[in-house]
Formats: sequence, C-alpha cells, structure tokens
Amino acid sequence: MIDLEGRRALVMGVANEQSIAWGIAESLSAAGAELAFSYLPDERGRAERRVKRLADTVQSELLLPCDVRNDEDLAALFDALGEHWGGLDILIHSIAWARTEDLSKEFSATSREGFALANEVSTYSLVAAAHRAGQLMAHGAGSIVTVTYLGSQRPVPRYNVMGVAKAGLESAVRYLAAEMGPVGIRVNAVSPGPIETLSSAALAGFDRMTQAVSSQAPLRRNVTTREVGDAVAFLCSDAARGITGQVLYVDGGFHLTAGI
Ligand code: NAD
Repeated sequence: MIDLEGRRALVMGVANEQSIAWGIAESLSAAGAELAFSYLPDERGRAERRVKRLADTVQSELLLPCDVRNDEDLAALFDALGEHWGGLDILIHSIAWARTEDLSKEFSATSREGFALANEVSTYSLVAAAHRAGQLMAHGAGSIVTVTYLGSQRPVPRYNVMGVAKAGLESAVRYLAAEMGPVGIRVNAVSPGPIETLSSAALAGFDRMTQAVSSQAPLRRNVTTREVGDAVAFLCSDAARGITGQVLYVDGGFHLTAGI
C-alpha cells in the first residue's frame, strides 16, 4: 500500500472528472495525502464550480485560480499555500495547451506565436511552478511530478508543436532533478498512453491513437486516469525515494511498439 499520510499536495490541471490530474488527485487522496487544487479561471466561473465540486469529494479546503501564463497568479497561488499550510510536500503539474490550428496543419507551418504559447503553457509553467514549490518544500521531503507524452520521442501524427513542448518538458524534468536533488526534492514525469479528456478532444485522429494502443500495446488495452494516478502516487511516496529525473511510461507498453 502506498502511504502519503500527512503529505500536502498541490494538484494543478484539473478541468473536470476526466482530467488526468483528477485521476492523480483520487490516487493521492486514497493514499492519505491532503490536497489543494488550482484551476484555470474563466469569466463565468465555470471551471471554479466544476473543480470545487470535485475538490469537495476529497475534503480539499484550498481551491485557487491560476493561469500559468501570469506570474502574479503563480505568486499568489504559492503565497496562499505557504500561508495555509506553511509548507508543501508534493506538486503535480498536469497542464498543456496548444492552438487547435497548430495540431491540424503541417508541423513546419507552426506560427512563431503558436510555438511560443504552447511552450510557455506546457513547458515553462513546470519550471516556474517548481521554482516556487521548491521554496515551500522542506529539505529532503519534496516530490514534483509532471505529465508528458510519447510524442516527445517520436513524431506522432498531428501532435506537432506539442511534441516539441513535451520534449522540452522532459528535459526540464532532468534539469530540475539535477538542481533540486541536492536538497532532497525529486522531479519525475509520467507518460500516459492516450486517454479521452478535454485536451485530447482537440487532437484530430485521436481515435486512431487509442485503437493503435489497444491493438499493438503489449497489454492490448488503453490505460485509465487512475492507473496514471497510482503510478504518480508511487513516485511521490517513500517507495520511490531513490528515483528522480525519470520518465515513467504508463501506456500498457505501447512505447515499445513501432507506433501509430
Ligand atoms: P485536461 O484538459 O483535463 O487538462 C489540461 C489542463 O491544463 C486543464 O485543467 C486546463 O485548464 C489546464 N490549462 C491549460 N492552459 C492553462 C493555463 N494557461 N493555465 C493553467 N492551466 C491551464 O486534459 P488532460 O489530458 O488531463 O491533460 C493533462 C496533461 O496530460 C497534459 O499535460 C497533457 O499533455 C498530458 N497527457 C494527456 C494525454 C491524453 O491522452 N489525454 C496523454 C499523455 C499526456
């Protein structure tokens, strides 16, 4: 059994109950962790209401807005965590975004602005959040986990600029692990297979990705958000105390195959 009793975790990236971040939150909560959530605010407050409903089910008291493109939001989020908890043990970063048009045309047609936006939201946000989280983590007690995808390693049709952002994200994991390891903070990534979520709905041909996994992956099936969550809970636990700078595939072994 994974034991995270007494650990305080910030989960960034829940949009709804299909979100990978929500599967992670459920697993962390089942292991005994106390949770705080951040959400991407919108004018009508819909995201806040959706995430609040979920946060209530795991007795979470802290729900804070944060658009990761905005330094003031990030500062306010981590200040509020510091005030409420006085520290932090776990940071979950499950955030990515690219313009839909950049996930449908040829990769070489990606605009300068679309490239910058995708990398800012999907990659730089981990660096910015890890920096602030590290200041709240006690010596030897921190774990940071982000969520990447195989499109970082091989060209997956239409994943395009997001593949480049994920390659940067995985590299950032290694740089952060090297920098933060000496103070006992571990930094890892999980790489799930395709899962139907709000974000994946933006990918044309997503069905082909899930079909390829169910027919070719060694386990011959797709994975669930809870399977990803359980792997993350392991990485955050003392059982993984010797692991940092790693990308852990939670994809039924699909990364071993020839591909889509
Ligand atoms: P999701 O849409 O549920 O989650 C994406 C989250 O990113 C949302 O909560 C959204 O609000 C947040 N976000 C986007 N822009 C933001 C911003 N500017 N500031 C703050 N938050 C912002 O989709 P998901 O599939 O659960 O995605 C979570 C992570 O998992 C992403 O990094 C994604 O690339 C990765 N991933 C997804 C799959 C999949 O098939 N669904 C596979 C591998 C990896």
